[in-house]
Amino acid sequence: MSEIIATSAAQSLIRDTVILGSGCSGLTAAIYAARSNLKPLVVEGHEPGGQLSITTLVENFPGWPDGIQGPELIENMKKQATRFGAELRMGHLDRIDLSQPPFRLQIGSEEVLTRTLIIASGASARWLNLPSEQALIGYGVSSCATCDGFFASGKEIAVIGGGDSAMEEALFLTRFAKKVTLVNRSEQFRASKIMLERAIAHPQIDFMTNTTVEEVLGVEEKDVKGLRLKNRQSGEESTLPISFMFLGIGHEPNAKAFRGLIDLDPDGYILTQNDVYCTLNGQVLPGVYACGDIQDRRYRQAITAAGSGCMAALEVEKYLEDHGR
Ligand code: NDP
Repeated sequence: MSEIIATSAAQSLIRDTVILGSGCSGLTAAIYAARSNLKPLVVEGHEPGGQLSITTLVENFPGWPDGIQGPELIENMKKQATRFGAELRMGHLDRIDLSQPPFRLQIGSEEVLTRTLIIASGASARWLNLPSEQALIGYGVSSCATCDGFFASGKEIAVIGGGDSAMEEALFLTRFAKKVTLVNRSEQFRASKIMLERAIAHPQIDFMTNTTVEEVLGVEEKDVKGLRLKNRQSGEESTLPISFMFLGIGHEPNAKAFRGLIDLDPDGYILTQNDVYCTLNGQVLPGVYACGDIQDRRYRQAITAAGSGCMAALEVEKYLEDHGR
């Protein structure tokens, strides 16, 4: 109780819990916290709805034998959370003070105080970080096939990557593009067997392995004209004439705002104890929890994100109960 501000006037301004992120983990945490009558505030973040909102058919979420569209799944979760009293707010975290409860969050022009915090900010698409790629984002370079696939209509395009994301994008993009060349930097693919086999069997998809993108051509024209490629084994360079490049090379955890405040691993993922407890210098930081892709580099599935969101909310409930709420 000592950590919780005692005056009733101050208490009325302090929330029981704030959830950062509105993807699968954040919204599941919101459903559970709302059902515990904690009236959680969900700050939607830079990518409202998270990765599911920019994916297509989700075929492995239990309970949907014919699959469900990612955005629909997220919309259902939002409805479920708000039905029980969760408050969803557009905006993102600008500053945070976790030195003592109540924690102080700057969300745009508003300061929010909260007794507990659930960090569910997820992960964002990774880029190659070539100057030419960065210059052409929005001009034929994209990391979101669902958002920009339509612009590839009738074109020859490239998808970069060799995991499930790349396979999913390549397969989806065959609806629009005349031809898709999948460029993988390694010999081996990380994709699951079923996804890889589907892509290999598709007549519109070609594969290049051991190949890196050295430059995206078309910066002067502000329009992608092709890729300068390099074979990693022979060192040979070649040009692939395409007019759209989609990245499918994985994701980065959105945890930069927490650097120095909680423990992160060398790749920037939040390190947790007992699944969802955040730590600082190896010691549990009371009242601060993380769930979903921001702390899970191993499974990264919608269902595991939802599971950890549930766990974080149950821990919040227990923490508040232990502290006399
Ligand atoms: P992965 O980490 O599985 O794969 C990333 C791919 O991108 C690898 O081929 C990697 O190559 C390549 N890559 C990474 N960085 C670079 C770079 N700088 N330049 C070139 N290539 C690069 O990520 P995914 O996003 O594909 O998948 C993440 C998780 O999400 C997986 O568990 C996957 O199963 C799941 N998923 C499931 C889907 C589904 O079931 N429908 C759809 C999408 C994802 P290298 O091997 O050389 O490192």
